[in-house]
Amino acid sequence: MSDQPATRPAPSDHIDNVLHENRVIAPSEEFAASARVSPEQYQEMYRRSLDDPEGFWGDVAGELVWMKPWERVLDWQEPHAQWFVGGETNIAYNALDRNVARGLGDKTAILWEGEDGEVRTYTYSELLREVKKAANVLTELGVQKGDRVTLYLPLIPEAAIAMLACARIGAVHSVVFAGFSVSALADRINNAQSKLLITADAGYRRGQPVNLKANADEAAQNTPTLEKILVVNRAGTNPPMQPGRDLWWDELMNAASAEHEAVPVDSEHPLFLLYTSGSTGQPKGVLHTTGGYMVNMYLTTQTVFDLRDDDVYWCTADIGWVTGHSYSVYGPLLNGATVLMYEGAPNHPDWGRFWEIVQKHGVTILYTAPTAIRSFMRQGDDLPAQYDLSSLRLLGSVGEPINPEAWMWYQRVIGGGRCPVVDTWWQTETGGIMLTTLPGAHPSKPGSAGLPMFGVDPAIMTHEGEELGPDEGGLLVIKRPWPSMLRTVYGDDARYRKSYWGEIPHVYFAGDGARRDADGYVTVVGRVDDVLNVSGHRLGTMEIESALVAHPAVAEAAVVGRPDEVKGESVVAFVLPQSGQEVDPGELRAHVAREIGALARPDAIIIADALPKTRSGKIMRRFLRQIAAGKEIQGDTSTLEDPGVLERLAATEAV
Ligand code: ATP
Ligand code: MG
Repeated sequence: MSDQPATRPAPSDHIDNVLHENRVIAPSEEFAASARVSPEQYQEMYRRSLDDPEGFWGDVAGELVWMKPWERVLDWQEPHAQWFVGGETNIAYNALDRNVARGLGDKTAILWEGEDGEVRTYTYSELLREVKKAANVLTELGVQKGDRVTLYLPLIPEAAIAMLACARIGAVHSVVFAGFSVSALADRINNAQSKLLITADAGYRRGQPVNLKANADEAAQNTPTLEKILVVNRAGTNPPMQPGRDLWWDELMNAASAEHEAVPVDSEHPLFLLYTSGSTGQPKGVLHTTGGYMVNMYLTTQTVFDLRDDDVYWCTADIGWVTGHSYSVYGPLLNGATVLMYEGAPNHPDWGRFWEIVQKHGVTILYTAPTAIRSFMRQGDDLPAQYDLSSLRLLGSVGEPINPEAWMWYQRVIGGGRCPVVDTWWQTETGGIMLTTLPGAHPSKPGSAGLPMFGVDPAIMTHEGEELGPDEGGLLVIKRPWPSMLRTVYGDDARYRKSYWGEIPHVYFAGDGARRDADGYVTVVGRVDDVLNVSGHRLGTMEIESALVAHPAVAEAAVVGRPDEVKGESVVAFVLPQSGQEVDPGELRAHVAREIGALARPDAIIIADALPKTRSGKIMRRFLRQIAAGKEIQGDTSTLEDPGVLERLAATEAV
């Protein structure tokens, strides 16, 4: 939000509505009949969550174990909220001990598949035992309640074990995605002032071991607070170990006692720090605390994913992202679910890998990102058709707006036309899902995230805080605190106040543009910073991109504005063709004009072999804006998946 050049047009806040997407897909009668939440229940629960938040959240929290009861459900001193004030609990206790105590000890908690095909499973009892041992290991290493521990790990069970062990002793974990560079890792260790780093010798990516320990060693040269490095042996690469500083996870785990009592922590005790993915600028260290986060993960996971005892639930996100925290680890484990984790790339050894995993393990719920869905789409329908995907009963999407065509493809080809698709809008900052449809309760509208979750009070506003009406595009805000909201930006409360509660008086500003239809469905049309201003019309990126993706020759698209003397800005489209197809620029322009109007017709089309994305797969339009304007690339490119893309795009002639 902060790194925009001052020359960008001043926002008039209204965003035009150009894409006319009218499809409505209702859940099957069969699904609806047995859904956990019916339409009437949603209405009643949602109403109560706004009218009587103390009663509503108190009841949900009461289903979990508290070592000391709370005195008040909410204390709101804008912009700082405290939830379950005075209460003490432990989220790892609630995810593990509590589930073992209620008879789930022998149920599979984690079903893990390595990229090399190795499979490991942990029952709830086994996972509890590992977490207890790891908690003892951390304590023996001198980690105390409140200390920060940085995790730089591949997606292996030890990552979840380490997170839960931190939570068990009240230490604050800060997970850094294993794809991040040395400097990104060092910055995050320094920002958190961690004493301990937990890493692995290496992790696998597309068959190759990626040497994490070497990165850790290099980062450790510039991280004065770091005392110890705990190393999981994942790939047997035998890295050099610095005596006195580096320790093997396995050795300490083997020697550790399996007896451990979870440490009760205050409801507002910090649980984790996590840096946003950096799509719009410098990543922020988002701080989440214990009680409210726990209660909302418990509730959103069971309702949004319609969880049942026999589900095999797979969220494909890496634990380096908030989705991995909330919906691979905490939410499903709090609910006693069986969670599948897969270590590697979706295209290793080929693009059928996900479908092979679904077939092999009988996955029932799949939660993934639009970037993955569009990549699968690009490969065509034949590959998924070779696998038995009939175990699937529910699909989810998160991370970016999902273009209606990609939504339809996901529903038809992966979901066999029978699975509801939940498009979940939320952020690192919100901790959990904020907008979605509940499967079974609500029909879906492809491209639109949907309705507010319990306790979420959204609105579409102008910068002046004027609420806009149905179908009027503007800024997406949340009008009251919710239990899993971020508490601050770590070490920078002024930034917290300014970025989230300072933009528009008395509401949380999400940074996204959106509109809400007469049924209350919210459609997110893109980042406010990315909105284009063409001839006085403000256009969200999602709608033009969706029109492009709706063309059969286009797999993926990103649009940005380029300064234009006449129009203010003109539309520049970066287009990734469907595998084996040619894009005819004239035809594509005509197609966009037909779909959403001549206004949005791209002035320049750049045929790309890849788009610049964050490591979590989100398109980074700020660099594309620079390329479109013929400028030098400026800004931090370290969160890009493949920085080489920028050069290639800059060298490509527009058509
Ligand atoms: P940064 O804040 O550093 O720029 P980021 O916003 O990409 O990074 P995240 O917290 O991972 O970091 O992403 C949240 C954003 O992702 C939302 O603000 C929104 O723009 C987008 N998003 C996530 N889910 C959806 C969805 N279902 N529909 C539309 N947009 C979504
Ligand atoms: Mg963000």
